[in-house]
Amino acid sequence: MNPEPPPLQVRGALRSFGHTRAVDGVDLELHPGELLVLVGPSGCGKSTLLRSIAGLVALDEGSITVGGLVVDDGRSSTPPEHRPVGMVFQDHSLFPHLTIEDNVAFGIRKTPAAERKAAVAELLAMVEIEHLAQRYPHEISGGERQRASVARAVAPHPRLLLLDEPFAALDPNLREQVRTQLVTLLRATGTPAVFVSHDQAEAMALGDRVAVMRAGRLEQLGTGPEVYDHPANRFVAAFMGDAAFLPVSDEDGRLRTELGPIERPADAPTLPAGGVVAVIRPADVELEADPDGPDEIVGSVYQGPTWTYDVRLASGAVVRSTRPRSEAVSHGTRVRARLDIACPALVPIAAG
Ligand code: ADP
Repeated sequence: MNPEPPPLQVRGALRSFGHTRAVDGVDLELHPGELLVLVGPSGCGKSTLLRSIAGLVALDEGSITVGGLVVDDGRSSTPPEHRPVGMVFQDHSLFPHLTIEDNVAFGIRKTPAAERKAAVAELLAMVEIEHLAQRYPHEISGGERQRASVARAVAPHPRLLLLDEPFAALDPNLREQVRTQLVTLLRATGTPAVFVSHDQAEAMALGDRVAVMRAGRLEQLGTGPEVYDHPANRFVAAFMGDAAFLPVSDEDGRLRTELGPIERPADAPTLPAGGVVAVIRPADVELEADPDGPDEIVGSVYQGPTWTYDVRLASGAVVRSTRPRSEAVSHGTRVRARLDIACPALVPIAAG
């Protein structure tokens, strides 16, 4: 028996607009049922990559295969309507003159009526809008419309679903709820999906893996913990979350930063030539009150559950420390900062 072909394979994808290489040699492959999130700063090529998978943009070079079917080989590109791919946009795209039920049924209108009705009811129930089946899009909220859009896109059993910033128009409280419902729907139907997001926290919450892009290139592809805790370089470390970078000295094999000794990573017996810096995450820095301490609180932000402090070290470097809200410390307080992990990530000194 042949193994199931991957839902998506992208090989050497290249697409330029004038002198801009929007997608510059991207390779990636999705596992069955996997949810992948493309993240990166504005203009890094996320939408162009997603649109080329959808068939809205043709590749200049490389290939895209969906469920074993070549849809772009760099010379010819299958039009979107002939690709086994569903797409959901930021601003939903329901037909205003059809009820929610009829919108969801639209993509499966050739299915026998009884079967169609049952499938639509099941999808609406999965995203918890079955009670809105007879309403029109303008009669329901933004979050409900977005759930209906995804139910509609999933109805014809696409081999792959593409979602371009699907939560961007929703307010933050609603966003998490809608996200959870969509993930439940995608998991229950086994639909693999590629999301675009510019929000790294959302990417880690949503994706089985996260693809971090910069200037058309894939900088790193991995699970949330892989890209957050083991970033490939400074760019990925800084993009995935608050990070300070401290010099690392190597004296007879013993590594240290200004915050004390650190362990050598098990997977890096020799450090890259040119040197490394340690990635310091705020959650990994502890503060000890010490009137004679070498470090000083120079800034603070209250976040409800936690405080985040800016701490100036003796060298002048500033690191951040996230502390429980019970640990309020005022500006100018002398402290001793230390790392509460033995082995912070190390990345090459060179920016990039
Ligand atoms: P992102 O989605 O990460 O913000 P895009 O894929 O939209 O990035 O854009 C990547 C680069 O390609 C940007 O420099 C953008 O200006 C350029 N670009 C995208 N689409 C077009 C287009 N249709 N015409 C010209 N340039 C484009």
